[in-house]
Amino acid sequence: MSVPPSDTPKRPTQAEAEQAVRTLLRWAGDNPDREGLHDTPARVARAYTEFFCGYEIDPAALLRRTFSEVEGYDEIVLLRDIRFESHCEHHLAPIIGRAHVAYLPRQRVVGISKLARVVDAYAKRLQIQERLTAQIANTINDELEPHGVAVIIESAHECMTTRGVHKPGVSMVTSTMLGVFRENSDTRRELMAMLNRPAISEY
Ligand SMILES: [Zn+2]
Repeated sequence: MSVPPSDTPKRPTQAEAEQAVRTLLRWAGDNPDREGLHDTPARVARAYTEFFCGYEIDPAALLRRTFSEVEGYDEIVLLRDIRFESHCEHHLAPIIGRAHVAYLPRQRVVGISKLARVVDAYAKRLQIQERLTAQIANTINDELEPHGVAVIIESAHECMTTRGVHKPGVSMVTSTMLGVFRENSDTRRELMAMLNRPAISEY
């Protein structure tokens, strides 16, 4: 599970972060004092604020407001093709992908944009894809207590395309199935059929 910001060591100052970037620029073999790199440490610090803003967000809190007037709707709710950007915790390299998030409500539903926000709250942290997938599913399961949750993520890891084994075009797929999606093969099949339908832009 994620470590809340209060349990992490004291946050360095922006000046300390910029100094660390200068060190990395020198490590790369360049001169941080040349004109083109002059503002780079400040820009990188700002970029990090954006890349890792998920640490400031409580994903569970995003799901507290639910709606119960659903006229007896008791079928799968699926939000698919949620694009996300994350960073791998081993190389700080980007992970770019799509998440498909489904749940089978038990009376209460949540605004669909909230599901996308939960994806972002966990993606905007240092991650491995397996944990990202499980965290999204477990948070929805704990907060909404639905009959089941399914999260499927497919993504490209730049640490595999631009370094190491250098294998572009490889995608990694992970899934977490909870409740009926794990136990009931009919429900799982129905989900797969929904996922395989053409995207809305193709209608
Ligand atoms: Zn990596």
